[in-house]
Amino acid sequence: MSVPITPEAAAAAALLGPEPSGLSVPPGAGPALQPTLFELSRPGRGGGKVAHPPKDALDRIPAAARRVTPPALPEIDEPTVARHYVNLSRLNYSIDTGFYPLGSCTMKYNPKVNEWAARLPGFASLHPFAPDALAQGTLDLLWQLEEALAAISGMEAVTLQPAAGAQGELAGILMVRAYHRARGDLDRTEVVIPDNAHGTNPATASMAGFTTVSIPSAPDGGVDIEAFRSALGPRTAAIMITNPSTLGLFEKRVVELLEMVHAVGALAYMDGANLNAIMGHFRPGDAGFDVMHFNVHKTFGTPHGGGGPGAGPVGVRAALVPFLPSPRVLREADGTFRLEAPGERPSSIGRMRSFVGNTGVLIRAYAYIRAHGGPGLVQVSEDAVLAANYLKHRVAEAYEVPFERPCMHEFIASAAALKRDTGVRTLDVAKRLIDYGHHPPTIYFPHTVEEGMLIEPTETESVETLDAFADALIAIAREAHEAPGLVTSAPTTAPVRRLDEAAAARQPNLRWRPVAGAETPCPE
Ligand SMILES: *Cc1c(COP(=O)(O)O)cnc(C)c1O
Repeated sequence: MSVPITPEAAAAAALLGPEPSGLSVPPGAGPALQPTLFELSRPGRGGGKVAHPPKDALDRIPAAARRVTPPALPEIDEPTVARHYVNLSRLNYSIDTGFYPLGSCTMKYNPKVNEWAARLPGFASLHPFAPDALAQGTLDLLWQLEEALAAISGMEAVTLQPAAGAQGELAGILMVRAYHRARGDLDRTEVVIPDNAHGTNPATASMAGFTTVSIPSAPDGGVDIEAFRSALGPRTAAIMITNPSTLGLFEKRVVELLEMVHAVGALAYMDGANLNAIMGHFRPGDAGFDVMHFNVHKTFGTPHGGGGPGAGPVGVRAALVPFLPSPRVLREADGTFRLEAPGERPSSIGRMRSFVGNTGVLIRAYAYIRAHGGPGLVQVSEDAVLAANYLKHRVAEAYEVPFERPCMHEFIASAAALKRDTGVRTLDVAKRLIDYGHHPPTIYFPHTVEEGMLIEPTETESVETLDAFADALIAIAREAHEAPGLVTSAPTTAPVRRLDEAAAARQPNLRWRPVAGAETPCPE
């Protein structure tokens, strides 16, 4: 039973009439927005659990170093603080609270055993400056993870240093640059990238000093071989392609494409963020890719979103090994491990990040790979592809699916026809999904599909969850025809309605400023 909780929702629901059986909007008003700690502050209130300092504590601090006025800190009792943070945490939507089909992001459930492994004191308490002799366990794990990623990808060697996929791309393209320079091949200034690439690809190419040449994709969603052929030449340093692509399609012409790329002396970069679709079925190294990155937080498992944390290891073929970032983890003849010394390998592009990388994320990836084993990882990919194709088939009842051939781990649906018929846009559908208790999919990406929704269910969801999501999308399409106001005014059950996302991103107001004597200390 749907229980509208705002007057707008009640009015809109009245327009729609009774719901068909089996469909319901969850009644729960989400948790409410919380006042800031400064607004909760009351003079003289506090936990009082901190031991009182000695009477002469202040006198021990030189007068010049003492504040003239006390800091404007909030004064709050402990239960209020505890409730404040617990209530704030309930405003979060996470994979542990619900379905999160955010295409391109692989928001799969992360097994808790990974958390156990990453928190083992031997890993978690290891000082980053600990000498190699005291860090053998961690170095051993990192070395084994490199080996595992090399085996999964068919690459010669792997660096674990980059802190995310985007930084992995940068490391990879810097190695490409170093490769051409080392051969004295200095005129290669261009990187060729299809127009449906992840935005990080062209950003990477320009950060590394290259010019991006953008290539339209073919009508079937794959690369346009002829467009590539005319873009490739003596100025091409590399191509970057995402495989499976950001449309969730496997690139069928990859062998032909890579032959063309290598024939002009360029290198081929594979954005491997979507490796969760192909493990055990396709190894980029075997296909001829020269360099690729992994998004271990997506493909294997670390809770991510909200900006991190992640890790973006990079795999390379033999020709690029000399340029790998330093320090590498080395295994000595006696089986012990050590980090490369500074300057030990002058051909290296140098350091990409402090220490050896986001070790906590790398431990989670190792735990995930070990827990699944080879056959388990193949099953992961097969289940991810099965779930996506099942959901695509169900969603096609109410939305267009522009590419009919089977998808990989994600698929793109479009609300273009719905918009023509009812005025309801993809953005409205996404907002209305929140009222049905689901996280919206990625919308308006890639830009090449009008009113697109990129939906990635991942292998961890049950058929019941997939059905509930498909039912919600189908119900929203029906609402769009019968009571479009219900969809265009959504969300009605969330603590906030439609936010100005551009202003929030461009003019964020994140700082609290005290105002002496003001009723509320939070003026903005
Ligand atoms: C997520 C993603 C990236 C960027 O990875 P981050 O870890 O977020 O930096 C790059 N390419 C593709 C295709 C992705 O899905």
